[in-house]
Amino acid sequence: MKATQKNDVLAAQYGAMGISREVYEYGERTLDALTGRFLGIDERAEYNQLKVVKAMQDCKVSEACLMGTTGYGYNDLGRETLEKVYAAVFRAQDALVRPQITCGTHALALALMGNLRPGDELLSPVGKPYDTLEEVIGIRKSKGSLAEYGITYRQVDLKPDGGFDWEAIRAAIHPKTRLATIQRSKGYQTRPTLSVSQIGELVAFIKSVKPDVICMVDNCYGEFVETMEPVEAGADLCVGSLIKNPGGGLAPIGGYIAGKKECVENAAYRLTSPGLGKEVGASLHALPAFYQGLFLAPTVVAGALKGAIFAANLYEKLGFFVIPNGQEERHDIIQAVSFADPKGLIAFCEGIQYAAPVDSFVTPEPWDMPGYDSQVIMAAGAFVSGSSIELSADGPLKPPYAAYFQGGLTWQHAKFGILKSLQRCVEAGVVSKGQLL
Ligand SMILES: *Cc1c(COP(=O)(O)O)cnc(C)c1O
Repeated sequence: MKATQKNDVLAAQYGAMGISREVYEYGERTLDALTGRFLGIDERAEYNQLKVVKAMQDCKVSEACLMGTTGYGYNDLGRETLEKVYAAVFRAQDALVRPQITCGTHALALALMGNLRPGDELLSPVGKPYDTLEEVIGIRKSKGSLAEYGITYRQVDLKPDGGFDWEAIRAAIHPKTRLATIQRSKGYQTRPTLSVSQIGELVAFIKSVKPDVICMVDNCYGEFVETMEPVEAGADLCVGSLIKNPGGGLAPIGGYIAGKKECVENAAYRLTSPGLGKEVGASLHALPAFYQGLFLAPTVVAGALKGAIFAANLYEKLGFFVIPNGQEERHDIIQAVSFADPKGLIAFCEGIQYAAPVDSFVTPEPWDMPGYDSQVIMAAGAFVSGSSIELSADGPLKPPYAAYFQGGLTWQHAKFGILKSLQRCVEAGVVSKGQLL
């Protein structure tokens, strides 16, 4: 059956939600070519679903694990079991998974501050790290940064083609080099995201030069995209946010650090206190959402991936520069669409906002967000405030005016959001109706 005749009832419903017939049909034609890739995504989700269930079964998750504790939180069965589950899922010796970890930046800061000592040097062999880490490290001067504690920083940029600069990395490693931070996802940049196997190669190389360098992976947005995670590829630590992939949209807060026992413990001493470490930290009422979110995460990530691929193909055909491109294999759930001017970026984000289940009636405005060096526009109508595993888009208002789009708790909602963004681009004159024919 021709895409254009596929489903009049559905088209009418989209019409009722402000999506024109041309935009809907343009979307259907784009989708027709993606069936094979979507099957591959479903297969990986199936594998990862089994991986999560096996971890929960092997760790004997029980009803009692969902209860939670108050006060000091000594002997918190649910918390301790959840940390075992995370360790199993990430094939790590140990894990720290806590509602007291406020966000991804906090989790990364804990892993860094817990494992670095004055006089040590931190290396980023993959170029500039995520914006908020600049202040953690002290690349931008800030109170309490690693730099203030006498920890130096060195960076080796990726080569123009996105590859590792092996010789420069070798030259940057010296006796003080203690920890290498490897960001898997592109974040707010237009470089390629690293695959887990590329991360494995990089870790092996660093360890061949200096075996005791702790290799930490910023795993934000990468969880469950592949069937393998960074620790399996040789990393000592992987770190992420629970309001991104592994929280499955249900975790209302939190972060995790998984990896070598000693490295995880060092981070725990920083989170709570030297001497207390992992032994304290009441889980309050967070555990049911943490468990259930992790259980759902592989499917949620699959929906988000389909959305990212759909957006890439839709906008690429219209002549916009997209990273990754429509055909490329995915290693995270972020899709960048560059608009070359602020108007396109703003229209795109408005469309995402207008598609949301929460706050669909508000219009996003650029603002000076803490931790970022330019204005940022953010579209998110999320059940969990700021959650970016839910359908969301954001981008700094500076060239190349790229919208970073991610999430969608269901594929169907991601699809609607992308169509809405295109609709808004048509209305704002960024895309002409003629381009859709
Ligand atoms: C989101 C993100 C972070 C920071 O996480 P927050 O929860 O926003 O603090 C760090 N690194 C990468 C690659 C990210 O995507």
